[in-house]
Amino acid sequence: MSRTNRNIFITGGAGFIGFHLQHSLKSTDFIRSIDLLPEHNIAAFKRSSLCESVLKADIRQPFHVDPQSDVLIHLAALTGIAQSAVDPSSYLDVNVQGTLSVLEQARKNGVKRVIYASSSSVYTPHEGPVKETDHTMNPLSFYGSTKKMSEVLVENYCRQFGMTAIGLRFFTVYGSWTRPDMAAYKFMKAIESNQAVTIYEAEKLKRDFTHVSDIVNGIKRLMDVLPALDLGTHEVFNIGYGQPVLVKDFAGEIAQSMGKELIMEEAELPKNEVLSTHADTDKLCKFTGFKPQVSVQEGVREMVAWFKTNAYE
Ligand code: NAD
Repeated sequence: MSRTNRNIFITGGAGFIGFHLQHSLKSTDFIRSIDLLPEHNIAAFKRSSLCESVLKADIRQPFHVDPQSDVLIHLAALTGIAQSAVDPSSYLDVNVQGTLSVLEQARKNGVKRVIYASSSSVYTPHEGPVKETDHTMNPLSFYGSTKKMSEVLVENYCRQFGMTAIGLRFFTVYGSWTRPDMAAYKFMKAIESNQAVTIYEAEKLKRDFTHVSDIVNGIKRLMDVLPALDLGTHEVFNIGYGQPVLVKDFAGEIAQSMGKELIMEEAELPKNEVLSTHADTDKLCKFTGFKPQVSVQEGVREMVAWFKTNAYE
């Protein structure tokens, strides 16, 4: 692979997606990244020990961004729908105030191009695949609301200050080094110890599970498109596999891959969760020629192989 020598600054570099992105770019680009690395986040500590470029810093405080950076990729956030209902003010602080702070650091340092993580959680419940132009003004969760607020802030920075930005609406990401609070990890932990996994509305709940390598490849293809966008442009893209599966079948795939039985218990769908997610990825394909490729069977095999050797405890 040829070296592009881009200068890339990443926030949330020790996160699940940030870690994979850095690994994928390190042989071609010059990377700096920051992460809060809070003590309780064992997963981020383990990941950061495998990355040379992660510095400890809080996005809510001023931090240095190299003015030569070709792109700032903002992934740092408080994630997780359930926790956002328990502690909404922290989500507002990190995801909205934090995003504003990141945009300010970019602006003050003359960094004109930004890619940032939004989420499929911005969409309101919808039959069939969602397009980027579909309704996003009433997300069900507080987490989704903070992601929508970030999109609005970025839109304003593009119009007012001539920034060029790409927003990424990721759909349920899974794979090696997944977050311990995500369903995929909880399922693996429960199945490993012959415990029941909890699934809401087991006959109906579907997610558009997207392997982290497809997320990284989607971001990389969009990084190639970014320099050609006019200054002041803000484009938002879905990145999802585009083929939702029943969550119970995803859990079944994990069990099969681990050589175990799936034991399941059903629970009521919380008010802040949608029954189904489904990405329309035509826009991503039109701009980049890229379509996510990793099937759930293949992706689960990769994740389970990692879990067997690298679980966080
Ligand atoms: P993650 O929690 O693994 O990574 C986020 C990182 O941000 C963590 O390492 C955390 O320590 C860091 N962080 C939190 N607060 C910070 C602060 N104040 N200053 C600096 N760093 C801070 O999450 P992820 O799954 O890698 O997600 C990355 C991004 O993608 C997030 O913005 C998330 O909302 C978005 N997203 C993820 C998914 C998914 O399924 N994983 C889906 C949709 C959107």
